[in-house]
Amino acid sequence: MPTILIVEDEDTVREVVSEGLESEGYEVLLADNGLDGLRQAREEDPDLILLDLMLPEMDGLSVCRTLRRNSDVPIIMLTARGAEMDKIVGLETGADDYVVKPFSLGELLARIRSLLRRTSNNTQQNQMQLTDSNISLDLSSRRVSKDNEEVHLTQKEFDLLAELMRNKGAVLSRDLLLEKVWGYNYIGNTHTVDVHIRWLREKIELDPSNPVRIVTVRGVGYRFQA
Ligand code: CA
Repeated sequence: MPTILIVEDEDTVREVVSEGLESEGYEVLLADNGLDGLRQAREEDPDLILLDLMLPEMDGLSVCRTLRRNSDVPIIMLTARGAEMDKIVGLETGADDYVVKPFSLGELLARIRSLLRRTSNNTQQNQMQLTDSNISLDLSSRRVSKDNEEVHLTQKEFDLLAELMRNKGAVLSRDLLLEKVWGYNYIGNTHTVDVHIRWLREKIELDPSNPVRIVTVRGVGYRFQA
């Protein structure tokens, strides 16, 4: 069954919703503030997130936007009627749906089911295998193999390789890679990209000092070559 993360600071709402979801067979994770919600979203990789708008530590909008930088996890925002709701409806929040409080459990469950159905088509995209000659990358299990032997990559190395392989043959600038893999607000410079490319080459290239897969395009960036 899918795992659902509930980020909600109102105890009653959190309890009622989590009991309702559990009785339907969902696995439930709970957070009562925005920061903890963000942490669990990243570490536990839930299938869907119910995200309250007004939260201590970090509000729901910020959590949502931060997550969207590198995650497509389905998000349903929970909001009170009135100004809060206008805020959600009028803004590009990155949320997939929203439910206005007070809501019935039945309504919420229907929204969850429909969103999970809609997004399961996208998940097929995540299950996509990127294979190029001797390197194969599986986006769902996050595994990489070279000549049919598993290669252990760090999270960033994996994301970087996936980005390059998705855009096979195209030159990706360091700035673009930094944005795609590390996120908009990453405090660092493009040297970070070079360092990770070097590590990646050591793992997937036959001769890391003469790379034939991840090629440097002088003055621009990198290109993945099949
Ligand atoms: Ca709240």
